[in-house]
Amino acid sequence: MSKKHKIIIISVIITLLLTIHGVWQWQKPKPEKISYNQFLEEVEKGSIEKVFLSDEDTMQGTLKDGTKFLTDNPRKEGLKEELLKADIIVDEMKGQEILSQAMSSIVLLGLVGLLLILAKRSGKSQSRASKVGMSIKPEESIKVNFSNVAGNQEAVNSVEELIDFINNPEKYSKYGARMPRGVILYGPPGTGKTLLAKAIAGEAGVPFYAVTGSDFVQVYVGVGASRVRELFKKARQVGKCVIFIDEIDALGKKRDGGLDGGGNDERDQTLNALLAEMSGFDDNEGIVVVAATNRLDTLDEALLRPGRFDRHIEIGLPDVKARLKILALHCKNKPIDQDVDLEKLANQTVYFSGAQLENLMNEAAIIAARKGSGTIHQQHIDQAFYIVVAGYEKKDRSSISEIDRKITAYHEAGHALITKLVAPENKVSKVTIIPSTKGAGGFSMNIPPSRMYAKKKDMENNIKIMLAGRCAEEIIFGKDNITTGASNDLEKATEVLLDMVRRFGMTDSSGLLNYDVLYRNGIRQVQDNFLDEAKKNLDILYSCVRSLLMENREQLEAIAMSLLKEETLDEDQLDQILKRAA
Ligand code: ADP
Ligand code: ZN
Repeated sequence: MSKKHKIIIISVIITLLLTIHGVWQWQKPKPEKISYNQFLEEVEKGSIEKVFLSDEDTMQGTLKDGTKFLTDNPRKEGLKEELLKADIIVDEMKGQEILSQAMSSIVLLGLVGLLLILAKRSGKSQSRASKVGMSIKPEESIKVNFSNVAGNQEAVNSVEELIDFINNPEKYSKYGARMPRGVILYGPPGTGKTLLAKAIAGEAGVPFYAVTGSDFVQVYVGVGASRVRELFKKARQVGKCVIFIDEIDALGKKRDGGLDGGGNDERDQTLNALLAEMSGFDDNEGIVVVAATNRLDTLDEALLRPGRFDRHIEIGLPDVKARLKILALHCKNKPIDQDVDLEKLANQTVYFSGAQLENLMNEAAIIAARKGSGTIHQQHIDQAFYIVVAGYEKKDRSSISEIDRKITAYHEAGHALITKLVAPENKVSKVTIIPSTKGAGGFSMNIPPSRMYAKKKDMENNIKIMLAGRCAEEIIFGKDNITTGASNDLEKATEVLLDMVRRFGMTDSSGLLNYDVLYRNGIRQVQDNFLDEAKKNLDILYSCVRSLLMENREQLEAIAMSLLKEETLDEDQLDQILKRAA
């Protein structure tokens, strides 16, 4: 059967179904329409038995003599109470009659929808399946603003200009500036990504549409895509707004090149629809799409390109200062007793997310309220602590032992110290022992703006910096206690070193041969040479790092100690520590 035939047959079935449904509806006794005043009179007279309240334009009911009536729905608050007082049965569900009517309509709609999908699947039918879709409603007048976000200052700063963009898009388009359409907030769960997205809408005073990536991933090809189009259509009608897509990874995962044959058609179509919509709207529409994910590295690159989600903002777990701010914020409207020391609490809640901190204070408040103790005491918080930690045990790292914290501190201190020693021109933007999405601990360095060619010296220095974490662990805790925490560092160090050996002819005995070319020409036996060469070089660099760290052990200790106390250090603090320990 050809596609054309299929579509014709399906259309005929739909028409038939609609006709039958229409006739059936028409044959049924229709309720009598009465005016609202008439209705009130009947209420007075006490002749009404039952009323079905709904939020439709009309409402239905039955008189005591059994006749059905229909009248305007005033949607008045308190109407239910008035009716109840008049001894009338009030049903907020739709009545049997309406229900069956609705049911039959739903069944019919479902059938039609199914047929449409079938048609779409079998042919290139242009019909949309979005009737099966969800209801997309914006949340108007968001009450959340930046004052509800504590401790994510960097992230708040990064999104601040978006608000100006939403409110005054002309200001930017006049200069031909293309403002970010899409922002991706990434970081562990509960760190306030949804909160921040809402705050953007709240600050800009525009409606907020929230959807979840998995809402779009459907079994039927094309449904997800049409939902995306529907969402943007509605957003455009509203005008300026913030669209928030939580768990964007559900629809924006890296395409795996089709392990299962053709790949995932539905997800691809949905993703393509999203990309098309995002490239489609004008710069001065004032629509901003904010997406959230726990992991940035699993997303399809197509999503991250300019004009799409081109701005990526990391929302990490809060450090001790941020935790204090979050705790203070969630204590604001709670009667906290004087015996509570928030600073101490901030110190004890390492690796807690904002959501866990909020949860902690809430549980404490519940305990205090249950006991009727007037204020929230330290003892209530202690009790709450165990509830929260137990509840999250599997999910988080609250239970990371002190020794792990210490190892991380020395590891990161090693990276930081070696950077300062071998490549002081590099800017260390942050050293932290708070785990980031990229793995345990964190150390970030801005390598100076790329020069056209990397010098051998720079490449070696970078390798030294990468090796320094593991090396510091070994010096402090001994060879037997080194951890798996350095795997990422070793991976990167190996890559750089291999490049030096096989591509850039930068080591002595490798000469100027290019390994890749040799390999392509079927010359494999030299591989062993390269391997030995690479290993030897790595060992030399490692022992160099080792002696540097040994010579400057006091500084290493000082950085590690500060990290254990402060958790995060910026470059100024780092310089201060080094100066003091020198
Ligand atoms: P995510 O979207 O990152 O999973 P949410 O935004 O849903 O996290 O956070 C859940 C709740 O945790 C928020 O509603 C808020 O009460 C609390 N919270 C999280 N981070 C913060 C923060 N930085 N400041 C204040 N409250 C926070
Ligand atoms: Zn490291």
